[in-house]
Amino acid sequence: MANIKEVTIIGSGPAGYTAAIYSARANLNPTLISGLQPGGQLTITTDVENYPGYENPIQGPWLMEQMQKQAQLVGTEILNTQVNKVEFNDSLKKIFLDDGSIIESKTVIISTGAQARWLGLENEEKFQGHGLSACATCDGFFFKDRKVAVIGGGNSAAEEALFLTKFASEVFLIHRRDQLRAEKILQDRLKNNSKIKFIWNTEVSKFIGDQDLKSIELYHKDKNENSNLDLDGVFIAIGHDPATNLFKGQIDMDSEGYIITKPDSTETSLKGVYAAGDVKDKIYRQAITAAGMGCMAALEAEKFLS
Ligand code: NAP
Repeated sequence: MANIKEVTIIGSGPAGYTAAIYSARANLNPTLISGLQPGGQLTITTDVENYPGYENPIQGPWLMEQMQKQAQLVGTEILNTQVNKVEFNDSLKKIFLDDGSIIESKTVIISTGAQARWLGLENEEKFQGHGLSACATCDGFFFKDRKVAVIGGGNSAAEEALFLTKFASEVFLIHRRDQLRAEKILQDRLKNNSKIKFIWNTEVSKFIGDQDLKSIELYHKDKNENSNLDLDGVFIAIGHDPATNLFKGQIDMDSEGYIITKPDSTETSLKGVYAAGDVKDKIYRQAITAAGMGCMAALEAEKFLS
């Protein structure tokens, strides 16, 4: 007879590992499938100062390694592979892995996360954590009295720019059009903040620096000319994409592809399937909120199974 799992967790960010720790400690012998980037978004950050419990800054990759070890120590089976397909139509959920094997599970916790969109320019990866970030809440603090730029024109870009004015001396908001997509109230706040300088109709064409980012090359579309801007930090805020392609057509999602869960719950439109972390959250997107949702999902799966 097939080895039927009680709980299978897809994804290995803070939501996934926390779900694993809680369900392992409930004797549910969880299996966690780590995916292509074990540890998730925190593995591409450096200093983390806002995860409670650590007096001094810790490193994102180290934090994820600790979560993984803790999950394994309490009894999680971790499979370093990825999921190719899922079939959730029966009460027993089927998960098809890259190596050709199939997992059958009574419950599934989806914690596949989301990915910040990047511009796709040369050196972008190299400068991540060295002056280039996609999260002002995570990294803004490191730019006290420094000159920074935010790229984008939506609500996220507006909020990130306003947040950064608490630390930075100057914040350039660089947008590819001459109009923001952000809500009017945020636009008013931006205009009334003396630290914000708008650069319209402009795209970033190059990241420049040695170890750390030092400046960016800008292409001004209306003038058809380039210029250089010296900066200490650049924040890309051009949107996120939830990693939900695998589940399309099987679970309810919103128009942007985020999984919809019941109010005050991680339960999806399918019984026994839960979603936790950035895959269902476009508002908070923090490691600690994702971890909290992972805990909720494990407790809900446990209740369902009993
Ligand atoms: P968004 O609304 O999709 O805005 C993305 C912005 O980035 C747009 O201004 C877009 O320019 C620009 N952009 C996209 N690709 C680009 C590229 N390759 N190069 C340069 N610029 C590029 O994304 P978001 O701001 O992350 O917001 C996502 C969702 O979350 C939205 O529904 C938003 O309302 C919501 N949200 C809400 C709040 C809140 O309510 N407080 C806060 C944050 C986010 P164009 O304008 O030219 O397309």
